[in-house]
Amino acid sequence: MLNILIFGPPGCGKGTQSEFLAIQYNLKHLSTGDIFRENIKNKTDLGIEAKTYIDQGQLVPDFITINMLGEKMQSKSDFNGFLFDGFPRTIKQAESLDDFLFKMNQEISMMICIEVPKEELVKRLLKRGKSSDRADDQNKEIILSRIKVYKEQTEILKEYYDQKNKFFNIDGMSTIDDVKQKIFSLINNHQK
Ligand code: AMP
Repeated sequence: MLNILIFGPPGCGKGTQSEFLAIQYNLKHLSTGDIFRENIKNKTDLGIEAKTYIDQGQLVPDFITINMLGEKMQSKSDFNGFLFDGFPRTIKQAESLDDFLFKMNQEISMMICIEVPKEELVKRLLKRGKSSDRADDQNKEIILSRIKVYKEQTEILKEYYDQKNKFFNIDGMSTIDDVKQKIFSLINNHQK
């Protein structure tokens, strides 16, 4: 099985690259941000609760996010593995993910982090905010808060996976296609 974790700050290109990766390697794409947005759109209890955090650029509490992801992992059918996008974002989430996978006799194969400097992230997110209905991309304060949360609570996960020799870094400051090729080569080399 190939279980990939695509990682990096908001706006680094995780969602865009995930679409290519899911198709190329036949992975089940699980984006916690997308799942929350779907719930918000459908006004579910989960969506209503999550919205209060998302609108402020804060993380949705671990117990809510972990339960939600655990449920989504149940239906894997004929995929070659999972592609985790936007999860984990805290050490607690990473430990829970290890447990979930362990119970399925599996583990994370690679964590691929796309690095992009802060000024570029703000630029990209504000641009995306103009063409999407994502409120959290339309306000600079919220964007800065999301980047701060990443730095303070999430970035430490690079060390978590590095200690397991699963951390791989990619420069995200080139074209979408270039980043895609770099990620594909990393995975292909890893599979050899
Ligand atoms: P994203 O689409 O990944 O940028 O996520 C949008 C927002 O959803 C984040 O700013 C968080 O408020 C929330 N969110 C997404 N994934 C997680 C997670 N793993 N843990 C906590 N909150 C999350």
